Amino acid sequence: MQRRIFARAWLWILIIAGLSSGCAPKRLAPLEPDAFPQPDGGTLVAPTLLGVGLAEGQLHLLMTVDGPALVLDSHSRQRLHQFGQEGGQLQCTRQGDTVVMTVGNVTSSSGGFILQPMDPSQRVSHDDKDYRGEFLVIPSPKTGGLTLVNQVGLESYLCGVVPWEIGRHGSEKKAALAAQAVAARTYTISHLRSRRSRGFDVYASVMDQVYKGSRHEDILCNEAIEETAGLVLESNGDLVDAYYSACCGGHSSRVEKVWPRKAESYLVNHLDSAGKGHKAFCSESKYFHWVENWSAGRLEEILQETLPAYVAYMTKGERPAWARPSFTSRKAGVDLKNPGKLLDLDITDYTPSGRIAELQISMEAGIYHVRGDRVRWVLAPASGKPVILRSAGFELEKVRRDGQLTEISARGRGFGHGIGLCQTGALAMAAQGYSAQEILVHYYPGSILRRLETQ
Ligand SMILES: [Zn+2]
Repeated sequence: MQRRIFARAWLWILIIAGLSSGCAPKRLAPLEPDAFPQPDGGTLVAPTLLGVGLAEGQLHLLMTVDGPALVLDSHSRQRLHQFGQEGGQLQCTRQGDTVVMTVGNVTSSSGGFILQPMDPSQRVSHDDKDYRGEFLVIPSPKTGGLTLVNQVGLESYLCGVVPWEIGRHGSEKKAALAAQAVAARTYTISHLRSRRSRGFDVYASVMDQVYKGSRHEDILCNEAIEETAGLVLESNGDLVDAYYSACCGGHSSRVEKVWPRKAESYLVNHLDSAGKGHKAFCSESKYFHWVENWSAGRLEEILQETLPAYVAYMTKGERPAWARPSFTSRKAGVDLKNPGKLLDLDITDYTPSGRIAELQISMEAGIYHVRGDRVRWVLAPASGKPVILRSAGFELEKVRRDGQLTEISARGRGFGHGIGLCQTGALAMAAQGYSAQEILVHYYPGSILRRLETQ
């Protein structure tokens, strides 16, 4: 109950702060207080424990604990071993459909094991990282080997996510940390079922959100998480798909133009600024402008790998309908896995936010039609850093000699997919005095804050 009162008080502080701070530039209208549901009116329930997939397909797992802990059978919850004050090591391997666990001279096999500290403030460790919560080891459902899952409370999980996703900053940017905490919490809850067939809820990587456990938590980020405890974003009665990226380049994008996903009213094209004629919030970002250069020979080498991979990716699931044909052959019988020589490339369609809608790459074998954000994987930087192109918002410059393509440059804006919250923009908004709530409403227009019930 104390937390409920606190969370509601926080909302009012935000509203009052939003209304009273007159020093900031043009402010966004704060949400109406009535937009917030009553504390007891909701049915959204926070998960008791979240399963974070730390590793899959491992032949061998070594876990340690520094204090008293239990090893439990994950199905029967039977106690198989108890570590004393000094803690110890647990090793696991896979045998057929079972996990074999070894502690000292004791060996046991089961469908899965849990390593659970007796004191909840105690950490469990694996691969030089410490984690709150407990470990679950199961046979990997999709591959051979073992899957390691960190079963951890939602708020504790966020402490290992927020500083890695938005970075560590001074108190003048705390509102952005709070906005990031709400976005990350909302993303987590709305994606809870997406990885379930793999035995956990979310990956601990950019596949979902980067999570590095408890060793390098950040005090300000932890405060931002605590002050927004349980708050998520909702739109039209559903949780928001709270995507975020490093820098939108001044203009965010509609989700369905970038990925084969359905349109959402809050993931739209909009200027990342206080209005037309104003500087973009993210304009000071080092990612705001970028240039990437390739020689025609180097790009041709890259395309030999990335184009066949693109066609294979686009022929899966629901993508063909969204992508339309990904390849048009020049003659019958060509092998699209062997693109051959690079002849030319042209941007044939832009999205309203200035990102590539379609890039046509003319190769000896035929024309590859590269759609949306996938262009970043196909036009991989020559240096390999970053691994994919910074964004899909760019123009191409081509140099020809004697009619032959010799050099290609991409001049672009932003870093990431550009959907939802722009992290560098959010940090600039915070520094200019905007509240966390104003930042969230700016990046997810029409959304409202709602508090999860705890079980
Ligand atoms: Zn931006």
